[in-house]
Amino acid sequence: MFKDKDVFLFDLDGTLLTIETEEFLKHYFRALSLEFKDLFEEQSDFINLLMASTQKMIKNDGSSSNQQAFMEEFMKKIDINKQTEVEQIKERFDQFYQNKFEALGKYFEIDKETPLEIIKYLKKQGKKLVLATNPLFPKKAVEKRLSWTGIDPADFELLTHYENMSYSKPNPNYYQEILEKINVDPENCLMIGNDLKEDAAAAELGIKTFIIEDKLIKRKGSDYPIEWRGSLKEFKDLIKREI
Ligand SMILES: [Mg+2]
Repeated sequence: MFKDKDVFLFDLDGTLLTIETEEFLKHYFRALSLEFKDLFEEQSDFINLLMASTQKMIKNDGSSSNQQAFMEEFMKKIDINKQTEVEQIKERFDQFYQNKFEALGKYFEIDKETPLEIIKYLKKQGKKLVLATNPLFPKKAVEKRLSWTGIDPADFELLTHYENMSYSKPNPNYYQEILEKINVDPENCLMIGNDLKEDAAAAELGIKTFIIEDKLIKRKGSDYPIEWRGSLKEFKDLIKREI
């Protein structure tokens, strides 16, 4: 099962990080909207814009970074043109991710043992690791979320985030972009995630996919082949037995 598999791609939310994405987004949207409340009459106006701008990243076609796709839409709708104001808005996002994002971890009961044990074990076995989280957040925010599990971002060869990626899940080009960045063939990789569509879409490139069922997400059109499925603990036992 693990023969020739040198590279392990891990999803974050619901896979290594034991949180419900929906629940997380609720807290995240609320906290972020406070940062921009002077610019919007209603909190819902801000959240709608945030969601529309996020959609631009999800549909991004490789022509710009996801961050650019997001900011372009965001700035367009709040009608900000002057460069200084654009910079101020970017700075507000930066400050939020730098200083306030981390505190969102308090809302969740996070498993700080199993994910860490898995990453340490694979590292010890000489495997290359990629944090293949949907690249809708800045690097800082991805690293902070990962740190809630106790895992060191430096253990990963690559973390995908909105600055360094120009596609998003479930677009197979997202996985292609990863393969190119780390220069590996799909048959040497495994994708481990909790989403039968967004993560299992890696199968389109010939990457074998493992599904962690603790926080399983099913969506329409998710009939990709799955190589293995089970809990994160079962996955840990499996690699310790077979690698
Ligand atoms: Mg996930």
